[in-house]
Amino acid sequence: MANPLNIGIVGGSIAGCSAAIYLSRAGHKVTIFERSTGKLQGRGGGIATPMATFQSLVEEDVIDADFPHTIVREMPFVARTPNDVQLGRTAWTLSVDLACFHWGSLWENLRERVDDRSYLNERHVTGANMHGSDTAILHLEDGSTHEFDLVLFADGYHSLGRRLLEPDSELRYRGYLLWRGLLSEASMRNSDPLAEKMPRLTYAQLEGHLVIYIVPGIDGSTTEGERLYNWGAYIPVDGDELPELMTDREGRSHIGSLPPGSMRRENEKRLKELMGANLPGYFAEIIDKSENTFIQLIYTADVQAYARDRIGLLGDAGDVVQPFTTSGVFKGFNNARDLAAALNEQQSVDDAVAHWSQTQTQRGKRILTLGEQMEQAFIWNPLDFASADAATTEAWWKSSVAEDEEFGFADER
Ligand SMILES: Cc1cc2nc3c(=O)[nH]c(=O)nc-3n(C[C@H](O)[C@H](O)[C@H](O)COP(=O)(O)OP(=O)(O)OC[C@H]3O[C@@H](n4cnc5c(N)ncnc54)[C@H](O)[C@@H]3O)c2cc1C
Repeated sequence: MANPLNIGIVGGSIAGCSAAIYLSRAGHKVTIFERSTGKLQGRGGGIATPMATFQSLVEEDVIDADFPHTIVREMPFVARTPNDVQLGRTAWTLSVDLACFHWGSLWENLRERVDDRSYLNERHVTGANMHGSDTAILHLEDGSTHEFDLVLFADGYHSLGRRLLEPDSELRYRGYLLWRGLLSEASMRNSDPLAEKMPRLTYAQLEGHLVIYIVPGIDGSTTEGERLYNWGAYIPVDGDELPELMTDREGRSHIGSLPPGSMRRENEKRLKELMGANLPGYFAEIIDKSENTFIQLIYTADVQAYARDRIGLLGDAGDVVQPFTTSGVFKGFNNARDLAAALNEQQSVDDAVAHWSQTQTQRGKRILTLGEQMEQAFIWNPLDFASADAATTEAWWKSSVAEDEEFGFADER
């Protein structure tokens, strides 16, 4: 591409920083507008991503070669039975290849690669519009306006950009939430049942399931005994029960997520009891000992296009997909990398953006389909892992979830 572009990015999280890295390396001038005041802190949760995505991040120097992570190679499908009350019965084990780490470490690593002069904190974007055919204008809360050749909204699942580009696209609550927590490895007598494993455990008397795996310690340590158990329990909850559940200890109501340590004690106790009644003892004990647990409501949203004119969407600002898929890291990272490549390869900016929008929209639809398949399999119609044999479980998995080489099917936010 002949001329470097002046590009404005709304949101300096995973997708925004990835875009800034790829686009500035391609010679474009980037400016990130991030409404937060300083460092983005992880919400206390780990992420797993396919090893292929993780290796690309390292090979392309988007994260450090020694970025702290743990490895998962097996995903056993487990349930409690009267004979296996402690560890549960494994119906079948899926082979996987995943890297697991902390969201906060990933953000810090990406952020280190973005020039401080390009990353503007405390800049709340309130609007955007086109001026002519090749200028996009951002409006900020402080009253200022900024002109760009291209504007990218990387502003998360409640995206202003998505609302501007696709007013009809809605966030849809999926009827279940993800209750999450962390516990130090040393709190349990041993972590052997989770060595390089990410079990998915169905409940005895409830739809949904638990996923659990080991991530590095908060300081990045991957030494045995210093790491953390990271778990997430998918639990169906009717929409009319949410206002009470999403009200914190101080009486404040939250939309979308309830931060660590703010959940009402009686609700946390009730969920711990629910898990105690439904899970094998070892896993129920991990949950019972965890403190400062938190909630993330599960939504989806789909868009018809990733860009209109010179305004585009990145990461969760585009399609929002269930966390069973690779949506957490994979989407924002790939949207950013593909955009830099399209701008490099196409003759004109408009052709590049249109081509990029088409490929991202297609990929988004594939991830959404995968999310719906996995939702049916893991939330609404799980197999009975307490009784199914290995051949039946393998056949059920293969008929439920289509294999997809590009993003695999085993990433967790
Ligand atoms: C602070 C934070 C902590 C998180 N911690 C975890 C975790 O521990 N574990 C986990 O699995 N997932 C975590 N997530 C997950 C997250 O929801 C996604 O999976 C992932 O980060 C998607 O990346 P994204 O860049 O598309 O969007 P997001 O990460 O949601 O980032 C959107 C960014 O845009 C900014 N923004 C939004 N609107 C505006 C505006 N109008 N003007 C300017 N800036 C704006 C936000 O402040 C935010 O930084 C976290 C997200 C955030 C923002």
